[in-house]
Amino acid sequence: MGKKHEKEYEGYDVVIIGAGPAGMFAANELIDQDLKIIVVDQGKDVDERNGDIMSGVGGAGTFSDGTLNLRPDIGGDLSELTKNQKIAWELVDEVDKIFLEFGGPDKLYGIDKKKIKELKRKAATEDIRFIEIPQRHIGSDKTPILIKKFKEHLIKNNVEFLLDTKVEDFIIEDNTCRGIKLSDGGKINAKYVITAPGRIGAYWMSGISEKHNIEKQFGPIDVGVRVEVSSIIMDHITKINRDPKFHIQTKRYDDFVRTFCTNHRGFVVKEKYNDVVGVNGHALRGANSENTNFAFLVRVQLTEPVENTIKYGKSIAKLATTIGGKKPILQRLGDLRRGRRSHMKGILQNLVQPTLDDYTPGDISMALPHRIVTDIIEGLEKLNNVIPGVASDSTLLYAPEIKFYATQLQVDDRMETNIKGLFAAGDGTGLSRGIITAAATGILAARGICFLSGKKQKKKKR
Ligand SMILES: Cc1cc2nc3c(=O)[nH]c(=O)nc-3n(C[C@H](O)[C@H](O)[C@H](O)COP(=O)(O)OP(=O)(O)OC[C@H]3O[C@@H](n4cnc5c(N)ncnc54)[C@H](O)[C@@H]3O)c2cc1C
Repeated sequence: MGKKHEKEYEGYDVVIIGAGPAGMFAANELIDQDLKIIVVDQGKDVDERNGDIMSGVGGAGTFSDGTLNLRPDIGGDLSELTKNQKIAWELVDEVDKIFLEFGGPDKLYGIDKKKIKELKRKAATEDIRFIEIPQRHIGSDKTPILIKKFKEHLIKNNVEFLLDTKVEDFIIEDNTCRGIKLSDGGKINAKYVITAPGRIGAYWMSGISEKHNIEKQFGPIDVGVRVEVSSIIMDHITKINRDPKFHIQTKRYDDFVRTFCTNHRGFVVKEKYNDVVGVNGHALRGANSENTNFAFLVRVQLTEPVENTIKYGKSIAKLATTIGGKKPILQRLGDLRRGRRSHMKGILQNLVQPTLDDYTPGDISMALPHRIVTDIIEGLEKLNNVIPGVASDSTLLYAPEIKFYATQLQVDDRMETNIKGLFAAGDGTGLSRGIITAAATGILAARGICFLSGKKQKKKKR
């Protein structure tokens, strides 16, 4: 559907903001319910997305590594949202089944009990928690194909998509949401709205919730670096679990540091958010690098007088962008330890060669707060006792990697906000931090709508 100006769309039951996993799974849950559904996204269709990793059909999931973490407490906490452990695990199972239906691979990682027990033991002796997670790995190049199939299925079932169209505001009257306003001046009137704008829309969501007094709380953010090592250093770990999660409490500051989004033989990628740059990582099924990368992140929670973690994170990202001359900063761990910046010559001679081309060799301690840099060095040195070589001088650190999943909308167990008819799902509302949990919150929001509109919940067996 093309872009229409100042058009008023009528007769919709449900409008979903965002075509990411949360939005698509919500739409999928609502089909067969005799509801008129439209999904609006500021980005393009899967085939037309040209290097835009954050926006468009499939959302940030489309070009993601596509690692499905099959646990309700990774990437959010579904048990807390559902107030029920069993339901939380069932949701994960349902999401997984849908992924399998659209072409997710059968192979499961992270289920070798004996090896996991041994790794857990080794980590525990270092005061590190290893989290065991069954995982499926779609791969960045296969994910778009899966998403395309999923979207075709939705279209076949009468879900409409309005792409290349930014949502500007909600239409709220008498504390009830009656639709949305588009940035081209158009409007969509609907009985229910699910807002699922993802990480790219988190700042917009935060502003708009302020404007309409939508209840929210500032959650924590994660600030840190992307670590890159030779893949041989981590092969024995990534064989056990493709995306191993190690949780560390640092001694110096008692801060929580963790590994996140590991890409075995993957690539580091640059991310752009409006005026700031950051880093991320991905793995391709068809192409391998010599390296493995993972995020190493410090949890930052602020209390009085400054609770706005998004603003704090943005100011760190801005500083890092300035220091890096609008490129991610790259530093060898050995240089960081010795308090000196990295230079191109040193990087070119380094044992580990960067998989990202577009970087500035520099000094991460000029960009990230001292406390975070201290946590990163301490955490990596601890991890080195479980994964020897991970804290070598030649280990590469890219900064900044910041996860903004901050403003968490307050919702009830049906995902409805304090504004009637306005439901929230996914990363942009602070309710999830990963593909599986985002999708699950989308399903929960859709079920909330089914409940309110007197529709039956979909049968689980498909
Ligand atoms: C490079 C990368 C790798 C990742 N790897 C993994 C991984 O391996 N495993 C994992 O579990 N997670 C991974 N993630 C995270 C995962 O992609 C997200 O958790 C997930 O996509 C969140 O789903 P969502 O539906 O909430 O939001 P998103 O997927 O971000 O989708 C939100 C959509 O809303 C649209 N939108 C935002 N604001 C507006 C607006 N105002 N108007 C209209 N449209 C709007 C956006 O264009 C976007 O398409 C990765 C993320 C990135 C960026």
